[in-house]
Amino acid sequence: MKLPFRKTEAIESPYSIEVKELTKCFGSFTAVDHISFQVKKGEIFGFLGANGAGKTTTIRMLCSLLMPTSGQATIAGYDLATQHKMIKRNIGYMSQKFSLYDDLTVFENMQMFGTIYNIPRKELKERIASSLEMLNLQDQAKTLVYSIPLGWKQKLAFATAILHRPKIVFLDEPTSGVDPIVRREFWDLIYAAASKGVTIFVTTHYMDEAEYCGRISIMSNGQLKLIGTPSELKERMGVDSIEQVFVKFVER
Ligand code: ATP
Repeated sequence: MKLPFRKTEAIESPYSIEVKELTKCFGSFTAVDHISFQVKKGEIFGFLGANGAGKTTTIRMLCSLLMPTSGQATIAGYDLATQHKMIKRNIGYMSQKFSLYDDLTVFENMQMFGTIYNIPRKELKERIASSLEMLNLQDQAKTLVYSIPLGWKQKLAFATAILHRPKIVFLDEPTSGVDPIVRREFWDLIYAAASKGVTIFVTTHYMDEAEYCGRISIMSNGQLKLIGTPSELKERMGVDSIEQVFVKFVER
């Protein structure tokens, strides 16, 4: 795997994410066990696995929030071992836990995160206005976040995670607990971002959502066991749905 030479330099690659033998141990327990894969620019990549398979640990390493025990990765062309700042500038992250501030309004939340990312004031105002329009939340701009429904909160968290126009966005179970209609709307937002070239790395326990991804991988006990397009995996396992792929895989 080619790695960049200078602190702020990125390598040219068709891949947004390249991972080689990435491993994370917590004491004697191996949570992520020598995983290797690549994600193309603008791809929607689904990262599946049962509870405790190691998905969040992997995402946290790729976002430079957790130090790997061993292995290599480049994120948006930056080396995970040496270029943390450049990685953080170029990614968005929506964690499993709701990460916005309940006691701030919709507008204030976006303004605060935009300011953290140093988006110039006038530009930020315009980006917030167009995000609120995209979310159909213009009338809720002054509403405190704690009082809006969960589905809206999740859509707002996504729009906030891409406000600084990252090259990659990591979404850790973004639609957990959200009703099917809002989940579909959330995926419309994902498609819209991907169509603009943003790479989407998403974990989900909803198998219908796995079918919406360009490629998916299935992780088990810290290891990456299967990877391919939904149709490739269905064909390989001789079944009609990703849910059946998952069940068959777990049974094995
Ligand atoms: P879920 O779908 O439930 O979110 P996951 O696939 O995201 O699961 P992880 O959260 O990555 O799984 O956890 C993988 C394993 O690593 C689990 O057994 C978990 O208990 C363990 N683990 C995670 N963080 C730590 C930590 N800080 N210290 C010790 N063990 C940890």
